[in-house]
Amino acid sequence: DPPLSFLDPGDTAQAQSIAILHLKRDLLMPTRLQEQDELNEGYDEGKVTNTRFGSFPHSTLIGQSWGSQIRASAVDTGSRGRRPKNDKKRKRDEDENTDSNAPTPKTAVAASTGFVHLLPPTPETWTSSLPHRTQVVYTPDYSYILHRLRVRPGTVLIEAGAGSGSFTHASARAVYDGLPGDEVKAEGASSKKKQKKGKIYSYEFHEQRVGKLKTELYEHGLDGLVEITHRDVCNEGFMVRKTESSDLNAKKNDEPKAEAIFLDLPAPWLALRHLTRNSMSSKFLDAAAGSSNPQSPAPGGDLPPPAPTSAPEGDLSFHSPLNPKATIRICTFSPCMEQVQRTISTMRQLGWVEIEMVEVQHKRLEVRRERVGLHEEGLRGVTAMPASVDEAVSRLREVEGRFRSFHGKNTGADGSEDASGANATESKEGTPASTPATYVSKQQRQQSIRDSLADRKVFKEGRLVHRTEPEIRTHTSYLVFALLPREWTAEDEARCQKKWPIKE
Ligand code: SAM
Repeated sequence: DPPLSFLDPGDTAQAQSIAILHLKRDLLMPTRLQEQDELNEGYDEGKVTNTRFGSFPHSTLIGQSWGSQIRASAVDTGSRGRRPKNDKKRKRDEDENTDSNAPTPKTAVAASTGFVHLLPPTPETWTSSLPHRTQVVYTPDYSYILHRLRVRPGTVLIEAGAGSGSFTHASARAVYDGLPGDEVKAEGASSKKKQKKGKIYSYEFHEQRVGKLKTELYEHGLDGLVEITHRDVCNEGFMVRKTESSDLNAKKNDEPKAEAIFLDLPAPWLALRHLTRNSMSSKFLDAAAGSSNPQSPAPGGDLPPPAPTSAPEGDLSFHSPLNPKATIRICTFSPCMEQVQRTISTMRQLGWVEIEMVEVQHKRLEVRRERVGLHEEGLRGVTAMPASVDEAVSRLREVEGRFRSFHGKNTGADGSEDASGANATESKEGTPASTPATYVSKQQRQQSIRDSLADRKVFKEGRLVHRTEPEIRTHTSYLVFALLPREWTAEDEARCQKKWPIKE
């Protein structure tokens, strides 16, 4: 089995785990580390990943600490870098995003002075490097969404559609409290075992995407944490029945019992009708009962009654996929305002409250001083770059003048000792020097300049400028948040009254 690379990557890169090769800023390449390459038999360098910065045999990556800088291999075994001839290898390279401009063998060897950094897989690095099958949710959005949905270890979350799995990976890490069935002792409790609970129920109606994502989740060690269902959620809802039972009242086998929902769908309002409480659903069924066609819009809106999810045809009993004991938090992700309006209208009708729309406008700013460090008397980076030659000359004069007045020494403008001592100073400056010349070392001169500049806060010199970086890969949308309060039944009230009786 592959290691739990995304949840516990350890300190070093292990065979079979996913590694992210950081080629340069904003250019990352994922690869699954393999000791053996069936297409590279006879060589013990393992699989080879070819990049525009050279070839990287996996034997040079496996066992290295995450974060290491890895130099491209200078050795050409003759096998790598070759344009993949057979379909299997070409397909694999495509899957791995291998740069289509990757060098051919000769250039690969010539370019072998390049390097990459070896990074552990994280949802963030995966989002920046995953093979895109759809638009994806990027890190600034999903971090905000997960925070607003209060997703934490142990949360059960519904996600639709799964698409390329960017959000899936981030949410899987957020809910992880151990894999289901992997029981641990409850904190502080003696022998009481705690059942692991955190889980993602993910839905996608595009069959190939489901297949690809299943493979990725398996390779990333996340398949126990994420359950993917191939389904059109707008028509079929979210119920997952664990045991086949003809008894529709056998609700204990019904899942997900989710408390957080994320919908990245073109028509989220159609899926919302499957995300109601049982009690809510009966209200809509009642409303629809007045109509001859139970699937026709409910009075007062374009909202059809909830479809009887997973129930045999003709049976209108509705099983809610929501946790009846929890407040449910939802987020929908839609690129246009009309979608937002329809979603909000449906939410209002279904009893969602605290409805709010947010747009995350993530910008990356480059902040710097216009003038950067310079060699001045060997003081790299101590002072700011002069704006002009005149300023440079006057600054040198100023420094030299301070130096002289501080030490009462006679030196040339270049800091060299002036053999002619006082006379030379007099002839240059027109003022007599009162003290004889003594030897001043370069270190002393540098220290003296440092001292004289110390109170000038030279590091603050230069105009502070910032600009928005133009190229940020992001696809942001309008986020609609809402919550569905916990159901409060007569039994709940009775239990409460018993426990905390109201004193007259
Ligand atoms: N959130 C995903 C990510 O971060 O990678 C991207 C989702 S993509 C924009 C939308 C996905 O929803 C598509 O893959 C599409 O096939 C799927 N989808 C659309 N309608 C659906 C439906 N009714 N049921 C299930 N999936 C659906």
